[in-house]
Amino acid sequence: MRKPVIAGNWKLFKTKNEALALIEELAPLVSGVDNVEIVVAPVFTVLPTLPAALAGTGISLAAQDVFWEEEGAFTGEVSPRMLLDAGASHVIIGHSERRQYFGETEETVNKKVKAALKGALVPIVCIGETLEAREAGDTFKVLERQLKGGLEGLTGTQFAPVIVAYEPVWAIGTGKVASDDQAQEAHAFIRGVIAGLFGKSAADKVRILYGGSVKPENVKGLMSRPDIDGALVGGASLKGASFASIVRYSE
Ligand code: PEP
Repeated sequence: MRKPVIAGNWKLFKTKNEALALIEELAPLVSGVDNVEIVVAPVFTVLPTLPAALAGTGISLAAQDVFWEEEGAFTGEVSPRMLLDAGASHVIIGHSERRQYFGETEETVNKKVKAALKGALVPIVCIGETLEAREAGDTFKVLERQLKGGLEGLTGTQFAPVIVAYEPVWAIGTGKVASDDQAQEAHAFIRGVIAGLFGKSAADKVRILYGGSVKPENVKGLMSRPDIDGALVGGASLKGASFASIVRYSE
């Protein structure tokens, strides 16, 4: 019922030519896949280069961040309208690296989510606990706070396009993937919080992606769990063959 989403977060990797080479490698490997939505998220400067290469591939384009104002004296920022203009349809918001290194808070995530939705972009809203929080038994408390803070003030209709990504910080880029049980437990909790905020039907429909050291070898187990609806992939999205085999997890 929920169409899986496999999204590649290229982080601070890939110049224009490197990005084009990756798409050239990836596109034939995922051609014909229609049971999964495929998204790639390059750096801002590469966005406008990719739509021509992605045409007809079924792969969507995401930005890795967005600002909440449409225009103005905000040096260094990029607005939803500018992302659309560059060819993006999705945007990652609240990635833990932005929370950790760039001062992202629940409040800024919330402003960005609202701006993205207003600008007709699909937000991929990232939440996840640190190792410290998990070990202190605070995982659910953190997830609930990040979720409620990031989605505050949205109506059910506004929330409908939102994709949520559960990314335990201790699993990102560390090679330490959450177990299928740990991920399923967190996803079921997140779906429950969304049911409380927007109702059961919204919770049944929302796609919740797992992120954190997803690889071709572990994606199948994760995707076999009922509340895991896809993956946000960092390192393994930088090579066409590994990302394609994650996309083709069900084959
Ligand atoms: C990410 O960047 O969102 C991520 C999950 O990275 P990795 O797959 O490398 O852990």
